[in-house]
Amino acid sequence: MRVEYREEPCKIALSPVKGMHFEWSLNPYMGCVHRCTFCYVRAFEQRADRPSGTAYGTSIRVKTNIVEVLRRELRLPSRREAHVAIGSATDPYQPAEGQYRLTRGCIEALAAARTRFSIITRGPLALRDLDVLREASQRTAMSISFSVPTLDDDVWRKTEPGTAHPRQRIKVLQRLSEAGIHAGLSIAPVLPGLSDRPEQLETVVKAARDHGARFIWCGALRLSPGTREHFLECLARDWPELLPSYGALYARPTAPRSVTQPIESLVAALKAKYSIGDEGALRAPASEEQLPLFAAS
Ligand code: SF4
Repeated sequence: MRVEYREEPCKIALSPVKGMHFEWSLNPYMGCVHRCTFCYVRAFEQRADRPSGTAYGTSIRVKTNIVEVLRRELRLPSRREAHVAIGSATDPYQPAEGQYRLTRGCIEALAAARTRFSIITRGPLALRDLDVLREASQRTAMSISFSVPTLDDDVWRKTEPGTAHPRQRIKVLQRLSEAGIHAGLSIAPVLPGLSDRPEQLETVVKAARDHGARFIWCGALRLSPGTREHFLECLARDWPELLPSYGALYARPTAPRSVTQPIESLVAALKAKYSIGDEGALRAPASEEQLPLFAAS
């Protein structure tokens, strides 16, 4: 697949977010070559008239000056003293980061300002930044979540065409955790009828425990308009027998509680069985445990 990289400076680095457990989001790239079939960002890209559907991930915007802009913005207490989420709209460790090193620069800037932050990624490239992540974890509260919706090879190959194998992510998680970094796993999105069987979920939770995950959180698939069409097209190609049931389950963006609740309960029970902590909690640096902000797992 041919990918176009557009080097475009940004005017702002941090975007405000409402109704989440973080106040600002930070995305050094727009567009994501991982091209997961369920990617919820397609819906936003479609609304913004940017490449979506099958074209999503073919044109990546690189915010070449984001580190300088972020350093400037972090002078403001409203930014510096908030929680910043990295990677909520694109993967911060997609291949372009190997060359541009923008995520790395942003981590250094956040650590220097002692701004708390969390990262979510499917990219094993995060291992390259073990040094700055360890340094950051000694200066501020932070966490890194690796998305591993499943360890089923068939489901992974068909739904995440551009990602490295999920076991690579879990191995990187282990290296970071062993280095004292607050690293955990996101089992999301769980796909009804494809990756929600109890033995599939237990395989992921057990692997997380065996590799030192400090927390796990999970979430079932959500299909907003713009994402829904592409996902259902891929489903029709790969698992046509599931199309009618998905049509019924996803008449609205969120599957009914009768589907999502058993998934959540099962993962909660597995977390208890394998003694794994709570959702994405940030962990305070050892020297700053007086800060009343964080619940360690
Ligand atoms: S890695 Fe994340 S941002 Fe990238 S395509 Fe997959 S779900 Fe979307």
